[in-house]
Amino acid sequence: MKMDAKFIEERKQELQKRKQELLRELNEDAVQVADHDYSAKFVDYGDKDDENAAEVANFEKNLSLEKTLEVSLYNVDLALKKIEEGKYGLCEKCSNPINPDRLKAFPSASSCMDCKKKLL
Ligand SMILES: [Zn+2]
Repeated sequence: MKMDAKFIEERKQELQKRKQELLRELNEDAVQVADHDYSAKFVDYGDKDDENAAEVANFEKNLSLEKTLEVSLYNVDLALKKIEEGKYGLCEKCSNPINPDRLKAFPSASSCMDCKKKLL
């Protein structure tokens, strides 16, 4: 089954929009150290005990957020690469087409529901 070009173009626009959002969020809470590699920001509040505790809490929050954003960005980039290569919408595990409704809800999906369920 060949994917509809218009359908793919729509997903591509969504992915690019999502990528801009992710980059913006990463730039707020993290610093880029390399391509696709970000580090959570450590904000220095001061040297008092309560300030140190607030620094750590803020850093831990940024750390988990940064990891989530980084993984999302990676998946979005992977999906955009697949569009360029003409492989978008195919499951990376079984090579069957991914349900278009799933791609609409989740444009960076890389596997079909059947394979996803097997992983859970
Ligand atoms: Zn599959």
